[in-house]
Amino acid sequence: MKKEKSGGLLNQKIGRRSFLKWSGAVAAPAVLGTSIGFTKLKEADTVLAESKDSTEKIYYTSNGNNCGGRCVIKAHVKNGQVVRISTQIKEEENGQPALKACVRGRNYRNMTYHPDRLKYPMKRVGKRGEGKFERISWDEAIDTIASEMKRITKKYGPASRYSVYGWGNGYGVTSDISSVNKLLALTGGYLNYRGNYSSFQTGTATPTIYGTGSSGNSYSSLAYSKVIILMAHNPGATVFGTTMRTYLMKARENGAKIIVVDPRYSESAKGLADEWIPIKPTTDTALMDAMAYVIYTEGLHDQAFLDKYCIGFDEKTLPEGIDAKESIKAYLLGEKDGIKKTPEWAEKITGMDRNTIKYLARLYATNKPGALMLGNGGQRHAYGEQHPRGGALLACMTGNVGVLGGWASAKGDCAGRPSGWQSRFSSATNPVEASISCFTFTDAIFRGTEMTAEDGLQGADKLDTNIKLIFNFSGNALLNQHSDINRTKEILADESKAEFIVVNDIFMTPSAKYADILLPGTTFLERNDILNPWSDEGYVTVQQKVLEPLYECRDEYEVCAAIAKKLGVYDKFTEGKTRREWMDDYVEAVRESVDPNFPSFDELCKKGVHFFPMDDITIAFEDFVKDPKVNPLSTPTGKIELFSKTVWDMNQHDEIPAIPKYIAAWEGPEDPLIEKYPLQLIGWHFVRRCHSIHDNQPWLEEAEKQVMWMNPIDAKKRNIKDSDKVKVFNDRGTIFIPVHVTNKIVPGVIAVPQGAWHSADKNGNDVRGSLNVLTNSRPTAWAKANPQHTNLAEVEKA
Ligand code: SF4
Repeated sequence: MKKEKSGGLLNQKIGRRSFLKWSGAVAAPAVLGTSIGFTKLKEADTVLAESKDSTEKIYYTSNGNNCGGRCVIKAHVKNGQVVRISTQIKEEENGQPALKACVRGRNYRNMTYHPDRLKYPMKRVGKRGEGKFERISWDEAIDTIASEMKRITKKYGPASRYSVYGWGNGYGVTSDISSVNKLLALTGGYLNYRGNYSSFQTGTATPTIYGTGSSGNSYSSLAYSKVIILMAHNPGATVFGTTMRTYLMKARENGAKIIVVDPRYSESAKGLADEWIPIKPTTDTALMDAMAYVIYTEGLHDQAFLDKYCIGFDEKTLPEGIDAKESIKAYLLGEKDGIKKTPEWAEKITGMDRNTIKYLARLYATNKPGALMLGNGGQRHAYGEQHPRGGALLACMTGNVGVLGGWASAKGDCAGRPSGWQSRFSSATNPVEASISCFTFTDAIFRGTEMTAEDGLQGADKLDTNIKLIFNFSGNALLNQHSDINRTKEILADESKAEFIVVNDIFMTPSAKYADILLPGTTFLERNDILNPWSDEGYVTVQQKVLEPLYECRDEYEVCAAIAKKLGVYDKFTEGKTRREWMDDYVEAVRESVDPNFPSFDELCKKGVHFFPMDDITIAFEDFVKDPKVNPLSTPTGKIELFSKTVWDMNQHDEIPAIPKYIAAWEGPEDPLIEKYPLQLIGWHFVRRCHSIHDNQPWLEEAEKQVMWMNPIDAKKRNIKDSDKVKVFNDRGTIFIPVHVTNKIVPGVIAVPQGAWHSADKNGNDVRGSLNVLTNSRPTAWAKANPQHTNLAEVEKA
């Protein structure tokens, strides 16, 4: 199909450039001058190799932070200190790609020995949030926590206790959150949360279409794709899976065309793509509607696939009793609302030229197999639940579901491969059934008893109590990563609301400042565990303790076990096992249910990684497509529900429609508030941080600066020049940040890298560029999830 001409800034296409090799871009740092006298050498049996210097030993380990990758880290230890971090650079023996660490991985030694590590337990001495603490003993810390747990539980009941979402050290067999939740479950219970800050919109919507969130093939399937569209997806910087980039590169080598659709000329646009197609934030579903319109009206759709496998594309497959005008076809053709979802219609909304929309639709529909891969960024807005549904519609219309090189779109996790998520550690049942969406926890602190199903409360009609006791272990979502920081600060600072907050972390993060008791945690180099990648890539990595915990640091398993002892549930908590022995328990569980040849923990320490026996390629819904009667999906109809009767019956058709539909976002480009705040503000995950982790690491700061991107058209209007310091503000607050004036972002949009640690000046304004000062805490309509790309703001020269 010949590409039609299109013009305008939003239609610029930028060709390939060499991808920045981060691992080569930074030099090895000098050892930081800090006390490391508490370290000891690990026993010799797990040593991988000796380096040329015979006193240096190399150990396999791996990090389990909230990044989707699980990489092989080699810790070089000399005289009881980690002197260097290196990684796997060769292909694995079984032909799988090397599990290479990124630039963040190379910084783990600096992170461990950083002089700002929290070194001993502390109690708050100033006002909550002021960050004033004094040293206490572990005994005092554990006594205080245990007695506050007893007091608050007696006064308010177990549902007043809450463990905040966060994965700073998570994803292991005895992860931080599992330890806290087990402790809380064994001592009466706690208010549950559902979802996460990353992907709860797509995690909620995708199962209503496919009966599962696992709608992705293995990444190895991408090598067979003819076209790959990365929509709001930036694997050049974020890591969904350690092997993903390798397969995208392979797809390129095999001739696939890769297109990035994103408001920013992202790292993926720069390093992986043939073309960048810019779009206004929150309008992606309008683009997908218009692509569907083009594909249908030009007869490029796979009607046989829609008829055989799907519900609701047209009147033939709508559920009984549903009017024909509710079908997807009727919606696209404007049979009910009078609006045809043409490229001309979408051009006004998305800012993307109509010819570019036609080009993209034809490219995808005529180059099969094709993979339309959606990132989590596209669903992190007011009506983000529509984003995965729009993707699934296009995948079904083009018959790209259940085929090699295709991609069913929507959430896109890969299942069907042997998985290592087998831990039996967190098996305690929580007596409290009530749950909220994790994004609504601040509401539950001050109006929990008023929350209803409309606020996302499940498992109970109402709560008898607000949240009164908070555990925040290894996470920064208590303050920094939650929206509307100034609002959250006010809620947390009020000691009559949440009466007791305990935080465990390795640094004094903005969230840690709100602790009443602050505990020093460990890094992954100081602990044992076994880790899984987010999307099942068919392997696990070992996390091997190569140092004894520095200073008085303790990991959360030991902390929770000590509290459990005070509260009389130690035996139930540990089940007679040390943290190390839980590894053996895990090995047993995996051998029983997945792989009888799974190595022992010690063997894993020598290998670093274990791949489960598996096929090279896994294709989601392959069996269903072969025979939908024999292998139905787990949806109510057993088919792909492009029209969901379950959603229809929720009876909130304007905000939660039964079919994928574009809905104009509040604080989006169609909101009248744009008169007052004319710029759409988005965040992005950038290479030097994993969410907010590493923000205090000078070495990584050198790799990438905290600057806001702004288009020259917007800068000129405000007399702003590149590198100027600017004030970015809306009704929620103000941040100060240097600006990068660049054509790499669409006009009308500004972007701030998310995760900078909130740092307020004496007026309460942020001076480090902490995005969440400006983001909206209103949850999304359906999942009640995080809408952090839905903000309007204005900018002035500071
Ligand atoms: S941040 Fe993620 S990709 Fe980078 S080294 Fe750590 S685990 Fe690997």
